[in-house]
Order: sequence, then structure tokens, then C-alpha cells
Amino acid sequence: MQLIIDNLTKTYANGVQALKGVTLTINQGMFGLLGPNGAGKSSLMRTIATLQEADTGTITLGDLNVLTQKEEVRKILGYLPQEFGVYPKVDAVTLLDHLAVLKGIRNKKERKELVEALLHKTNLWKAKNKNLGGYSGGMKQRFGIAQALIANPKLIIVDEPTAGLDPAERNRFLNLLSEIGENTIVILSTHIVEDVKELCTDMAIINNGEVLYKGNPLDAIASVSGKVWKRRIEKNQLEEFRNQYTVISERLIAGRPEITVYNEDSAPEGFQKTEADLEDVYFSLIFGKQNVLATN
Ligand code: ADP
Repeated sequence: MQLIIDNLTKTYANGVQALKGVTLTINQGMFGLLGPNGAGKSSLMRTIATLQEADTGTITLGDLNVLTQKEEVRKILGYLPQEFGVYPKVDAVTLLDHLAVLKGIRNKKERKELVEALLHKTNLWKAKNKNLGGYSGGMKQRFGIAQALIANPKLIIVDEPTAGLDPAERNRFLNLLSEIGENTIVILSTHIVEDVKELCTDMAIINNGEVLYKGNPLDAIASVSGKVWKRRIEKNQLEEFRNQYTVISERLIAGRPEITVYNEDSAPEGFQKTEADLEDVYFSLIFGKQNVLATN
């Protein structure tokens, strides 16, 4: 099954053009949708999740027209929104069982088996009788995945799932997602480059409602390989270097800036070659200083 998004546009009532002709084909597996805050990721995710209308364009999921056959799509969709609220005074077993009833699973034994399997899968078995209000951020996110999996979805959308998780919780969550991605379309929307780098076989980078890159993360890295250079400088040189070079990132190391620049031909004076990273691709596209990659 494929999710095909064609020329999708959306302008909000306040005049913000959140999606400007987005075209993407998404296959089974983990797909990373990467972009800074305000890029249009949630607008796109909510539209795919049948929660808001687009102005023009089409989305199809297999044989379904996502924009018109909403009920059918919802039956095979699992959605974990950015703000995932839980009922704090209810335990995981009770809430999952209740949600399974709402999804139409009438048979009690079937529900019990499903709920138990989901709790094991998301590593929440030991906390199954604890009220959700007492769950950590990571546990809540894993519960979010458990509820998203109830209907055995063909498409799962997770919007910014790792924000606020500590490193151990983040790892556990990402491992869970990659397991699910083996036989489902999973769209991971995030502004965290690492999430995409670690998990996704396919990705897109969006900014200002436009797709700037689509393809494999490794191809993206290969396309800037040998063109990225690093140098440590003094703080008062920053402005001069920004003017002279295509600076794609700046960071402080022990109080002194280290800058990364993009240069196609050769080493700029005083710079050292550095192994290119997905971050370099991302920042060079987001800052739009040059057209590093042709979209395909
Ligand atoms: P992201 O998820 O990448 O942060 P969003 O899709 O939330 O991006 O937002 C894209 C742009 O649309 C932003 O400029 C945002 O302020 C604007 N926007 C999002 N939702 C609405 C809305 N309901 N009404 C008006 N503007 C919105």
C-alpha cells in the first residue's frame, strides 16, 4: 500500500500559506518528515489524518481517497498527535479496553487478548494497573502508540513524538516505532534530525510549506559529502565568516564557535574537511543559502 500526496495546498483564514503544493509518495516502512517549527508538518499530518481540509490537491491511501472517504481511512489509521492527552485517573487496561470498544471490537475475550498484547508490545505491562496520570512522558507516548495500534492500522502518523523525552525513553520509543514500521506505513514528523537519521529509510525535508528534499537519508548525506568544512574561529570573526562563506551551522565548543560551511570546490582557507551528516543537509536546505540538492 502507498500513500500518495499530490499538489496539496492549504491557506489558513489568517492568510498563512501552510502547504504550497506538497507532492510526496510514501511507501511501507518508516518515513521521516523533517522540518523546523512552523514548516507545515502538523498541517500536513492533520490533513492526512482526516482532521482538516485541504484547499486543493489529492491524497490517496491504496484505493481510498483520503479527502473524501474519511470514515474508511479512519478505520485503518493510527494517529498520535503532538499533544496527546490521557484521562489521568484511569489505568492503561481500562482505557485501552474502552477505546477498543469504541473501535468496534465487541468480543470481550478478543479485547482482553488485544489489550494484553499491546501492553506487552509497548513495554507497559508492569504499569498496566497504574493510573495514567502517574506515567512519565515516555510512558504516555508509548501508551499513545498502544492506542494508535488498536485497530491494526495500515497507516500510523506520529507528530513530534520525542520532544521532551529523556535519552533512554527516546531510544525505547524509537525502537518501538521501528518494529511497527516493518509492515505498516509509519510517518514520523519531527524537527529532530537524529530521529530521522536513526530510523527512517525514506524522508522529506519541508520548510515554509514546500518540500525541499525527498529521498533516502543516505543519498542526501552522500550528495553533500566532500563539500562540508569545519573551522574553529573567534567570536568576533563570526560576522566576517558569515558574510564570506555559506555557513550552515554554528555551535560553541568550550565557549568558542565552530562553524560548518558548504563549499563545492575545495577547502576554504583554514578549514578542515568534515564527514557530512544529515544535519548538514538539513541546515543547508533550511537556511536556503544554496540549492545543495535537486529534489527528485
Ligand atoms: P509545524 O507542525 O511544522 O510546526 P504547522 O503546520 O503547525 O507547522 O504550521 C504551519 C504554519 O501554519 C505556521 O505558520 C503556523 O503558525 C500556521 N498555522 C498552523 N495552524 C494554524 C491555524 N489553525 N490557523 C492559522 N495558522 C495556522
